Amino acid sequence: MNSDPATRIRALGARVTPARLAVLRLLEGADRALSHHDVEAALSDLDIDRVTLYRVLDWLVESGLAHRVTDAQRVFRFSLAAPNAPQHDQHAHFRCEDCGKVFCLDDVQIAQPALPKGFSAKSVGLSVTGQCAQCDRHTAAK
Ligand SMILES: [Zn+2]
Ligand SMILES: [Zn+2]
Repeated sequence: MNSDPATRIRALGARVTPARLAVLRLLEGADRALSHHDVEAALSDLDIDRVTLYRVLDWLVESGLAHRVTDAQRVFRFSLAAPNAPQHDQHAHFRCEDCGKVFCLDDVQIAQPALPKGFSAKSVGLSVTGQCAQCDRHTAAK
């Protein structure tokens, strides 16, 4: 994850705004998936209003820079997607039940199923849940 946030935004042909930059940087440095509330609290001194923050988070998800998952409490949580990952509907994802982060599994290609005549697929997903390497290490150290 070395590519600088501004470059990643520009690569999409999108405008680099202070809010987009701040949120992307925050997700990049986070060690767990963040809720709207976490993002709001972490960036409270930047004077970005809540509506803007929500829009930025939605935009990051739509442009494939971040993943959005719903946690056990049905709260949306956001985490950074792998840079330069191919389309997220073409690879599998791993969701860690401890930190809530979602990882792109670029090497796991999803087979596009053959559909009956007249059906069209919008997205095909495969997601694995469990414990990521980082959380597994923490548990092992206890
Ligand atoms: Zn984890
Ligand atoms: Zn992905």
